[in-house]
Amino acid sequence: MCRKLTDAPARASSMGNGRGMAGIHRHRPSHYPPSHMTCLDRSTRARRAAACLLATMLVAACGGAATTGTNTGDDTSGSTSGSDPLAPYYLTFALCNDTSGPDCTKLRLGDSQLTTSTPGVGKLYSCSGANPSAPGSVRSRITWIDDANGTWNLLRKPFLPSGTFAPASGTYAMQEANGTRTITLNNLPVDGKIGDWPMSRYAALTAIDGNPGTPTAKSYSFALPVTPTVNSTPTCVSLGTIGVTTNGVVLYNAADARGNDAVANEIVDAHGGHPAQTDYHYHAAPERLDKAPLADGHSGVIGYIRDGFPIYGFKGVGGVELRNTDLDECHGHSHGTLGYHYHATLEYPYTIGCYRGTPR
Ligand SMILES: [Zn+2]
Ligand SMILES: [Zn+2]
Repeated sequence: MCRKLTDAPARASSMGNGRGMAGIHRHRPSHYPPSHMTCLDRSTRARRAAACLLATMLVAACGGAATTGTNTGDDTSGSTSGSDPLAPYYLTFALCNDTSGPDCTKLRLGDSQLTTSTPGVGKLYSCSGANPSAPGSVRSRITWIDDANGTWNLLRKPFLPSGTFAPASGTYAMQEANGTRTITLNNLPVDGKIGDWPMSRYAALTAIDGNPGTPTAKSYSFALPVTPTVNSTPTCVSLGTIGVTTNGVVLYNAADARGNDAVANEIVDAHGGHPAQTDYHYHAAPERLDKAPLADGHSGVIGYIRDGFPIYGFKGVGGVELRNTDLDECHGHSHGTLGYHYHATLEYPYTIGCYRGTPR
């Protein structure tokens, strides 16, 4: 499935301090871009998805790759889905169909995993504490979080489908000179995959997450060290932009404005992103970005973090999906000729847990 990226304040073109956007982060989505969906047949999707999960080896039997965002419609389409009005908005993910990695139906909820004191594996070492009064989803209407067990079900979480929304084309360019990697982008997806924003046209989704935002082009320029230094002491992660993906969209950390698990609590689009007012971002890496593995099966680079270290996709050497326990407290590791690098995972904090280098 897809995954998403987090919420951190978008760094301005100056690559600033990443603070300001937290307060206006009125949306909150989780992000999992559904690039490889199978079993997505609307009204029958829910039942079939369950069947597919139980028979992951029978992928072929589950029907071909549905296209992302085949939903076109408004909420009236939900009336064909029986008693579950959210069924038209469920997705499936290739990463959930394999036998490695976490169980997508019981992902650990990250709401209590934010820390401002001590970094730790599976935690987000945040520069700011929880803010329960910040805007966010209507928790009482979230059906895919199991509070009793502290888990959430990615396969029963709704995603805003594609539709008629068609913003400007995305741009992304990278140059290296004199030890500096300069990345410029307009913060719209280069692959053109984006949901039907604003979400207000989808009553069933807006009732859960009132995010009023609409993504708009915004220029960013990042100047990062080509060969960053590993610090002995990790640095905390601010809200707002923590990095950039090769799809030309910025990454936010795993927390929403309240400090809860953004990926679990916020509704994002079928391609893994959502807007903070006009600033589109991922809280987790969309799985479709993990498309160019290295010769040994290890995922390729999907983006760069503000300290200059690259972030790779979901798989380690041999193509095996990684879990938090394979990574350090900052959500990275070092092996072979790659040096230190971060990885995306389906587990909170999804992208990074802290900065191993010095954020710019
Ligand atoms: Zn967000
Ligand atoms: Zn690795």
